[in-house]
Amino acid sequence: MESELKKYLLEQCGDWMLEEEKVILRRLSLTEYGEITTRKSALIEHNIELFYRFQDDNINEMVSLGKTQAEENIAKRILKDNPSIINNCSKCGQLARTPRARQCRHCGNKWFE
Ligand SMILES: [Zn+2]
Repeated sequence: MESELKKYLLEQCGDWMLEEEKVILRRLSLTEYGEITTRKSALIEHNIELFYRFQDDNINEMVSLGKTQAEENIAKRILKDNPSIINNCSKCGQLARTPRARQCRHCGNKWFE
């Protein structure tokens, strides 16, 4: 096939491409500089990269705070955005085990609502 047409089909006609074909091209571009033996490791490395989002500045910043501080920030954020998530026992006032719990783990009180 003529190279201009091929380029056109491959680069401008993605909407007509099968999902499988897209994956194939993605994988091949990923391993363009690798040997066959390094392809699998390049693919795995790429997936790890995506999974842990090492390129994401916000995530990198949060991770650099350390576990204690990051957990604190996340917990605060959840509460701030979902104030009604707190599930206190109506009898003893202590926090239930989960937001959807209907029985108190401290005093055994049960409620239905
Ligand atoms: Zn209780």
